[in-house]
Amino acid sequence: MQEFDVIIVGGGMVGASTANLLAPSGLKIAVIEAQMPSPFSFEQPMDLRVSAISLASQQLLVATGAWTNIREMRLCPYRRLETWDQGGCEIKFHANDIGYDKLGYIIENRVIQLGLLEAMRRHHNVQLMCPEKVATLAQYSDYAEIRLISGAKLRAKLVLAADGANSIIRQQSNIGISSWDYRQSCMLINIDTDQAQQDVTWQEFSPTGPMALLPLPGHKASLVWYHQTAHIKYLSQLSNAELKVEVQQHFPDLIGEFEITNHGSFPLTRRHAQQYYNGRVVLLGDAAHTINPLAGQGVNIGFKDVNVLCELIRSAVIEGEAWDSKALLTQYQRSRKPDNLLMQTSMDLFYSVFSNDSIPAKVLRNLGIAVAQRAGPLKRQALRYAIGLS
Ligand SMILES: Cc1cc2nc3c(=O)[nH]c(=O)nc-3n(C[C@H](O)[C@H](O)[C@H](O)COP(=O)(O)OP(=O)(O)OC[C@H]3O[C@@H](n4cnc5c(N)ncnc54)[C@H](O)[C@@H]3O)c2cc1C
Repeated sequence: MQEFDVIIVGGGMVGASTANLLAPSGLKIAVIEAQMPSPFSFEQPMDLRVSAISLASQQLLVATGAWTNIREMRLCPYRRLETWDQGGCEIKFHANDIGYDKLGYIIENRVIQLGLLEAMRRHHNVQLMCPEKVATLAQYSDYAEIRLISGAKLRAKLVLAADGANSIIRQQSNIGISSWDYRQSCMLINIDTDQAQQDVTWQEFSPTGPMALLPLPGHKASLVWYHQTAHIKYLSQLSNAELKVEVQQHFPDLIGEFEITNHGSFPLTRRHAQQYYNGRVVLLGDAAHTINPLAGQGVNIGFKDVNVLCELIRSAVIEGEAWDSKALLTQYQRSRKPDNLLMQTSMDLFYSVFSNDSIPAKVLRNLGIAVAQRAGPLKRQALRYAIGLS
């Protein structure tokens, strides 16, 4: 039986950042991760899975000690954010509107995870167990016990579940979720373009769903195509050349000449855990909530969970108070659950108003965009919210 203060299940972006931010408290931490990400090299093509990382999340990554590692691999800053209704009004944001030089970064998920795992190696009180998987979880009044697939047994005062959307830990601790599938899937398409590196991320709303471009380092970009699941299935089995024709026909005429290098599709499901803790198990990131990715907020709200929970635990350790108390976990839940629900609901509202072709919805959204584009303080406030600064 190995004894720890905290066991973190999942060494993805959320779990690995939690380990780094908790480490300075001196607590003895185990991180269990099923799969080591493949090492980075510059010759590799861009991964399909990328995230728009807000400035608030970048600050968190700086605090984890991982930012330098991430920057030394690759990323693409963006300064402008543009959204429009097909054939209607548009709203444009620029970092200068709020006195910043950028709004965020597009980064491969694997690069973020590698940067965080590298930073973790500096902490002697953090032990990474990888590749390893949780087989069972049992809870007692003073501790929780985990048995790994390898047969090893671990015990800790708190188990932090950062094992993603289908969290085994959430299921084994009997925390229910409310969830539904959006009647859409999302296709990610990596392209090489003839254009210089872009600093804008844009999104066009059409009645069939949004189409977006995220800039990637160099002459590259990621196209994001939301559509009915059956149509995304059809697009997925096309050759790159056939898919290119579809993109040329349906995407706005802004991409220039391009070649498709990779593509893949993902179902879209909204999930929200009914509680963020049960006994000695606490949920963070996708284990607690998944959200429509149209505004690129998923891991950004996950990082906010990490920030709040680590701050509460660190302060309790410094003050010599119980860092595993029910009161502390309740405080975490109170702070994060309503905030995440608000973000999920705002995204759904935004999505349904923009993906609706009825005349009143069209009038409403164009009016909304026109007002927002002209209402300076409101627009700035919306932008600050989107990049996690308020
Ligand atoms: C198409 C798409 C686009 C997106 N774009 C954005 C974006 O632009 N911006 C943004 O903020 N978010 C975005 N998201 C959301 C973002 O990808 C997720 O919020 C993020 O990956 C969640 O991180 P996580 O660490 O909580 O979970 P995960 O990334 O799922 O990591 C979980 C980790 O736990 C490990 N694991 C799982 N089970 C076990 C087990 N039993 N034992 C041990 N280890 C285990 C896994 O190997 C994995 O490493 C997008 C999502 C989708 C689907």
